[in-house]
Amino acid sequence: ASRFEGVTMAPPDPILGVSEAFKADSHESKLNLGVGAYRTEELRPYVLNVVKKAENLMVERGENKEYLPIEGLAAFNKATAELLFGADNPVIKQQRVATVQGLSGTGSLRLAAALIERYFPGAKVVISSPTWGACFHHLNLYVKLSQGVPWSEYRYYNPKTVGLDFEGMIADIKAAPEGSFVLLHGCAHNPTGIDPTPDQWEKIADVIQEKNHTPFFDVAYQGFASGSLDEDAASVRLFAARGMEVLVAQSYSKNLGLYAERIGAINVVCSSADAAARVKSQLKRLARPMYSNPPIHGAKIVANVVGDPALFNEWKAEMEMMAGRIKNVRQKLYGSLSAKDKSGKDWSFILKQIGMFSFTA
Ligand code: PLP
Repeated sequence: ASRFEGVTMAPPDPILGVSEAFKADSHESKLNLGVGAYRTEELRPYVLNVVKKAENLMVERGENKEYLPIEGLAAFNKATAELLFGADNPVIKQQRVATVQGLSGTGSLRLAAALIERYFPGAKVVISSPTWGACFHHLNLYVKLSQGVPWSEYRYYNPKTVGLDFEGMIADIKAAPEGSFVLLHGCAHNPTGIDPTPDQWEKIADVIQEKNHTPFFDVAYQGFASGSLDEDAASVRLFAARGMEVLVAQSYSKNLGLYAERIGAINVVCSSADAAARVKSQLKRLARPMYSNPPIHGAKIVANVVGDPALFNEWKAEMEMMAGRIKNVRQKLYGSLSAKDKSGKDWSFILKQIGMFSFTA
């Protein structure tokens, strides 16, 4: 008998399950809309030119594969925090940000969850309904921790308007126990494609401040949503400018197309440099037994691209190109649906939503 007799079959992952079904399907016009990865006009995965150039530079320089420190590559951590907040932001100048390289967006969220679990036992994480991966992913992330982080959902999507349920969102964030962590998508909300307006962000910040909650941003599309790194970081910067302490997980999967390199970071904005240093030390302590230290390849690509003015400009141009193509595809989809659908349904939400996703019902 197997020692593993009692191990039950886990349900397939809904998103990766779609990819498997896609692979198995032999239809010549098949299209995989399940996974959030950019495709070219020819439906091919896209490796950015700046990435190829940065990789060539790394080979030319004969860079090694030695272990990184637990917190990751220093040049990457500096670059990633500056991209997020802006190099001149007081939170950077005053060294109030604890930045630790993580295993892309997911791994960085996981590290933050471990910090919450360890230092704020019983604090609730409140999550938008729906959230990415069709409601399951964030929930899994929090539910499956060893002790568990309690969570609940706040209303986000209004099917009647195919838009934001702003009143519901505010009411639910208000109703969450004082000192909760409010998970927010910095831009291009997954899966709805619906973002709050700047004015709504201010009101969300008001309620979060009022309730002594801590905003916890998931930023997976900086520069990839609007085409501008600064515009897509405006939500996060608005909270930081209020002097609030903020958690921000970042990912370079989409905006630099580094999906499988697993490159991202967790940033914790603290009210003092001293608190930031302590938080960073604990993030490292949590990371050490999980994966020891993060991968070097993607970190070097990001650091090389951001650190070289010519490559940085080229990256911005490629990001604008990707964001522009997505907007163009939305326009075309809207055009053909409006022309062919005789039901009278208003498809304009496709144009109002942003990023790779569209919520239709
Ligand atoms: N956060 C959001 C909102 C996402 O949409 C995604 C991926 O689709 C991620 C985080 C995490 O991606 P990764 O772990 O590849 O960085």
